[in-house]
Amino acid sequence: MARLQAKYPNETEYLQAVQEVLESIEEVYNQHPEFERAKIVERMVEPDRIFTFRVTWVDDRGEVQTNLGYRVQFNSAIGPYKGGLRFHRAVTPSMLKFLGFEQTFKNALTTLPMGGAKGGSDFDPKGKSNEEIMRFCQAFMLELWNCIGPDQDIPAGDVGVGSREIGYLYGMYKKLARQYNTGVITGKGMTWGGSILRPEATGYGALYFTHYLLAEAGKDIRGSRIAISGFGNVAWGACKKALELGAKVVAISGPDGVCEIPDGITPEMIDYMLVMRASNRDRVEDMALKFPDKTRFTAGKKAWSVKCDIALPCAFQNELSEEDAAELVANGTWCCCEVSNMGCQPGAIHYFQQHGILFAPGKAVNAGGVATSGLEMTQNASHISWSGKEVDDKLHYIMKSIHDACVKYGTQPDGKVDYVKGANIAGFMKVATAMLEQGTV
Ligand code: GLU
Repeated sequence: MARLQAKYPNETEYLQAVQEVLESIEEVYNQHPEFERAKIVERMVEPDRIFTFRVTWVDDRGEVQTNLGYRVQFNSAIGPYKGGLRFHRAVTPSMLKFLGFEQTFKNALTTLPMGGAKGGSDFDPKGKSNEEIMRFCQAFMLELWNCIGPDQDIPAGDVGVGSREIGYLYGMYKKLARQYNTGVITGKGMTWGGSILRPEATGYGALYFTHYLLAEAGKDIRGSRIAISGFGNVAWGACKKALELGAKVVAISGPDGVCEIPDGITPEMIDYMLVMRASNRDRVEDMALKFPDKTRFTAGKKAWSVKCDIALPCAFQNELSEEDAAELVANGTWCCCEVSNMGCQPGAIHYFQQHGILFAPGKAVNAGGVATSGLEMTQNASHISWSGKEVDDKLHYIMKSIHDACVKYGTQPDGKVDYVKGANIAGFMKVATAMLEQGTV
């Protein structure tokens, strides 16, 4: 860690992600001198390569705009590079390195053969027209197409990249590469190679994982009050499944504040989340304006100020601080499943663990998204399309396997499961073993 800190002093998110993993695996690592001899950790924390490129496009006023684009190919020990693209004004190499590092472990947990990658741009979709988004995506792909391929590196969506953006990216890829293999990108539309349930998969998988975690602790999700941050694709899927499992979603949030829903979110509100996402306004207040009788909007507040049993961060890294954790616990929250990547600050995780709150990390909880991308790749490679039931059954099985792996590697002497340790050790063992077996490359 000291060496990495000296080398990348400003890459705070990346250092945070590496620190969490190294702390978790220390004991296991020390029991394997062969890992030490092969310098597995030193190799694993550095990405295989990073592509950086300029993306120039023209906005609706005819002005030339320049953004930066990246693809971080982090680790290919267990399969081709796989991971999403993030379009957000705050994107930096540090953010994408942390996400690529996390993705490597997460993908290892899915049971599928996928390496880790991440990419994106500091392009800000907020307030952009559909035409601007299309021109940006095309300009982005003009640089990226050469670095990706169905057996090489398979991008997908992430924050700011949904099915619309995937469509524009894929359309341009085909034109440039003259390759018509749908498996080069996942999260596609249903009529051109997309998998049924991929849009829902991250949220559904997170709720399946939460269900297994609660069952392990002798609890039930039915009747519980859930606070969710965000209102994008992940929050949407989580709301849908939470409702189906008999829970009540009492809050969603956005960068502008929190929308409280005392009687619980309704299917109409869940559908409206899609309209809010497509509008590019990035405001949760729109929900309160649309359903004034059933909601209460408070500017500047987070979802964590609302009384709930279960907290599900579904928005962005570091969105839940130690103070937020203390407020939640004081209000009676007894479980937090991190759905966003690194959604909780280290102080928040320690606070939850010290206070006996059930906690599981994003790389286990949200892995259903990329796992279903893996299922999309399988369908594309065999030129078939599975039914919703087939995909859902496989997603269930994968989330249960991830939970089992956490229990296997994370059960402590007192019988309780440390899900942070469990997920990190399980992912590490798989990637480290593969690296060792493939020699010094
Ligand atoms: N962006 C998602 C994640 O963080 C999904 C990536 C994918 O489907 O490749 O796992």
